[in-house]
Amino acid sequence: MVEKKKLPLIWKIAIGFVAGILAGIVFGEKISFIAPIGTIFVALLQMLVVPLVFASLVVGTASIGDPLSLGRVGVKTIALYLFTTAIAIAIGLTLGNVISPGVGMGLGADLSGFQVPTPPKIGEVIIGLFPRNPVASMAQANMLQIIVFALFLGISAVFAGEKGKILINVMDSVAETMYKMTGLIMQLAPYGVFALISTTVAKYGISVLAPFGKVIFAVYLGCILHALIVYSGLLTVWARFSPWRFFDGVKEATLTAFVTRSSSATLPITMRVTQENIGVSEKISSFVLPLGATINMDGTALYQGVCALFVAQAFGIELSLGAQLGILLTATLASIGTAGVPGAGLIMLTLVLTQAGLPVEGVALLAGIDAVLDMARTAINVTGDATVATVVAKTEGELADVKKAA
Ligand code: ASP
Repeated sequence: MVEKKKLPLIWKIAIGFVAGILAGIVFGEKISFIAPIGTIFVALLQMLVVPLVFASLVVGTASIGDPLSLGRVGVKTIALYLFTTAIAIAIGLTLGNVISPGVGMGLGADLSGFQVPTPPKIGEVIIGLFPRNPVASMAQANMLQIIVFALFLGISAVFAGEKGKILINVMDSVAETMYKMTGLIMQLAPYGVFALISTTVAKYGISVLAPFGKVIFAVYLGCILHALIVYSGLLTVWARFSPWRFFDGVKEATLTAFVTRSSSATLPITMRVTQENIGVSEKISSFVLPLGATINMDGTALYQGVCALFVAQAFGIELSLGAQLGILLTATLASIGTAGVPGAGLIMLTLVLTQAGLPVEGVALLAGIDAVLDMARTAINVTGDATVATVVAKTEGELADVKKAA
């Protein structure tokens, strides 16, 4: 039989990625006319997020049903998120000390005219978890508020018995439809990825990046080490899941995060691949992943560790061990407060620098190359969410064997 084999989507995306890098180098700024394709691709992904998260979380909560086991899953998830984040910062700080990216920076840069962004206060963040008006939360795509409301709704629907079942069925249908829509939109990914990566490469030529080579190296190396050591370790020891199979299974999400620089926009894909390729149940993925896209930012935390040291070194400030431990604490909190959108980590870096008594002007220095650092940290943020979802699913007996099922 001479049936023509279709090229798998991930290969098309990979081709879009490589061709995009080449096009960016060859055509430079002239390629920017295709930027709208990237913008539309990201907009379509964002379009999925609110209905998908809301509907699948209501169904997921209702299917766990018992608030006690929901609480157990919640505690486990948050503990794992905090644990991986703290290790990420430790790796970032270590690399910042070893590679010393800021030493000899010679700060002649003109930092005037840079508006230092104001980071949100931690107390306000906690109050802000609770929605006064869930419709407004959805309109603003406020993920944590949507999560809180969906949890209440799912539990209440179970308590409502027969009548509540109708709501759960409707949400189930919405969630399924949204997964199908995710599949459709992913068909555009090769073109979206091409547009996003080519315009980024065109904008950040080698000349812009060269002086910051060491910071970029430290952040990228840290992200790779974190995935290879921490994620592989957790997957092997706790989930008895082959890291190779895992990274292979989630690569579409990792790559999309890399080019879109948004955990939140990547969320529909993260949910799809962890369910379809890894075997995490919808119950677990619909709860763990939206939460992770909002609060679990290992890449961002690692970046903050490296960058705090970079700024200190660039300004010739000595950071004691105590000060670095302080950074570990604030960077954990800052990464939790970081929104899953492009560039959010840079804003939260001001919080880390302020707490550590470092000049916030350092943020201005890093702003110029933020997109390049954001790509790596977002890819790790998303991969970290999927790792924790896999581990939690395994320990809850919610990890199916997809190879057998297929
Ligand atoms: N862009 C990152 C994310 O969406 C957040 C950050 O800027 O660090 O995960």
